[in-house]
Amino acid sequence: MQQTLPNIKDFTKPELIQAITAMGEPAYRAAQLHQWLFSHRIRSFEDITIINLALRRKLASIYSIRTATLDDCRREYRDDHEIPTTKFLIRMADDETVEAVLIPSENRITACISSQAGCSLRCTFCATGKMGFTRNLTSGEMTDQVWLLNDYLTAHHEKTITNIVFMGMGEPLLNMPHVLDAIETLSNHSYRYSISQRKISISTVGIIPRIDLLARSSHKVKLAVSLHSAIQENRESLMPAAREYPLPALRKSLAEYNRLTGQPVTLVYMLLRDINDTPEDARVLVKFAKSLFCKINLIDYNAIVNIKFKPVYTGKRELFLRSLLDSGLQVTVRKSHGASINAACGQLVTESRQHLPEEPH
Ligand code: SF4
Repeated sequence: MQQTLPNIKDFTKPELIQAITAMGEPAYRAAQLHQWLFSHRIRSFEDITIINLALRRKLASIYSIRTATLDDCRREYRDDHEIPTTKFLIRMADDETVEAVLIPSENRITACISSQAGCSLRCTFCATGKMGFTRNLTSGEMTDQVWLLNDYLTAHHEKTITNIVFMGMGEPLLNMPHVLDAIETLSNHSYRYSISQRKISISTVGIIPRIDLLARSSHKVKLAVSLHSAIQENRESLMPAAREYPLPALRKSLAEYNRLTGQPVTLVYMLLRDINDTPEDARVLVKFAKSLFCKINLIDYNAIVNIKFKPVYTGKRELFLRSLLDSGLQVTVRKSHGASINAACGQLVTESRQHLPEEPH
């Protein structure tokens, strides 16, 4: 019976306020309830002792409290880190699964989390894109991913997450209200765990109207844009969504983002062998980026079974990098993490689905 009631953690904070005030309760009760749900992380209305028994019982008759669970995890140890890159399969209350990854680097431990189950944008290099879109995740399902990873990290390595990136499955800016609500919860300094918004990044394919909204919002998160090519035709072939958001308009939007927020944008460029790794590709990337306040994040591709792309050759990556550096751009190079654990977006969910028993005919 409990399972069929709506999950109260699926509400954004404004929705929770609306629901509680509609029950004739003051708005501050919603704030108390939110704090107990997301800071104390309680799992039963009975445990919310700050609100009276009658209201607890009333809430329990209308709503349930359900939490995501860890289903599977894969680790990849690297010589230079005691903590492995760890990829998790996370099961939501309705049995939908998504991926999240813990990525250690020199002085940070980043949680890469998903914002949607599946994705509608069908980027050709991405396993999630091949799955299609199932649904948006709620803000509670996104905060659950962070808490689950943080609990795992604390239990196994006595550390906590230092950074969060919305770079897992899905396009975060197509689920913006829930993503921003999750960020508000995760960065609430009066809650048990909190992370400054400056340490949270949203990664997008470049949904221009939403970038414009973000630039005008009060949020202080960082923005990363998956560029992958500064040649329109090439970009469209990698990311069909680029047809709707052409490069000149994207560039203009990013310049405006720089102006309004005073913050840089990260341009993510995944090097793909013989696709976007030539000196000409580097030249047009420099032209695109040169007058923006930005840094370039060059990343390697994790080869995916059944997807035709291959990682760039080391020599070509070095030449590409040299062209960017010589032109004065700020560039970071991210070597491939998690190649042995299927750490590219969507690979673990795809694999888990392939291992599910077949439906009886
Ligand atoms: S790369 Fe991101 S936006 Fe593109 S299909 Fe994959 S999940 Fe969606």
